[in-house]
Amino acid sequence: MDQPQQEPPSESSPLVTDNRTAIRNSALQAVLQLSDHSRVYLAIKFLISLGKITACLLILFLTSTDVEKPLDTFIYIMLSIECVYALVTVVNFSIPPAEQHFRLKRTISLFEYLALLTYITGHILGNIWFYSCDSCFDDARELTILSLVLIVLGYIYMCMPCLLCCCICLCLPVLIIALMYANPGQHPATEEQISKLKVASFNSTEHINKECVICFAAFEENDEIMILNCDVRHSFHSVCLKKWLRINNTCPICRKPLE
Ligand SMILES: [Zn+2]
Ligand SMILES: [Zn+2]
Repeated sequence: MDQPQQEPPSESSPLVTDNRTAIRNSALQAVLQLSDHSRVYLAIKFLISLGKITACLLILFLTSTDVEKPLDTFIYIMLSIECVYALVTVVNFSIPPAEQHFRLKRTISLFEYLALLTYITGHILGNIWFYSCDSCFDDARELTILSLVLIVLGYIYMCMPCLLCCCICLCLPVLIIALMYANPGQHPATEEQISKLKVASFNSTEHINKECVICFAAFEENDEIMILNCDVRHSFHSVCLKKWLRINNTCPICRKPLE
């Protein structure tokens, strides 16, 4: 089969780099936009803070706080931090961060930073007091249970960035496929077009492209890959490319339509 006459874009050409970046960025933006200070997210955050504040106030003022270790101090620390977070959430809800004045943004950041430092210190102290108190459950059951709940929540918050990273990494290929479906004005390739594509077994010495930009995974020896006619370096996992082409009949890198 004749190769196309046009000069293929080089691997480092702006076109190739832009397309790769665009594919990755569009998926990441979709994830970030979901969590980026949306009003629903802020409302949920405020309700959680309100729940914690209510629980702390009820326990502190309606039950016994007479215990061997100062667990009530731990609750007071958590209560004050939660009040700061609730206040910041209300401000962000009423004035979206994009419209905030520089000075307000800086003040919010300072409060959040101080709250985080206090939270970490309070959490460490809470752990020490909780685990070193032998008679707390007997002396002030409600106070001790609330302390335990706040300590467990603290561990969950600390693990949250790791969990979020894992979720994003695992969901990225799914998101890309979803974005391809969501992109209007595109046409799928026919099965006949797909069947005519060059299929090869990946060989690291023979093939220049070492990574599938659809799933972002590096090719492994003998992986079944498909190479598009637009450029010998535009190769992808067969499975990934077929999924792409059944939605969009263009090359994922240079956007050249399939012949
Ligand atoms: Zn792939
Ligand atoms: Zn291409």
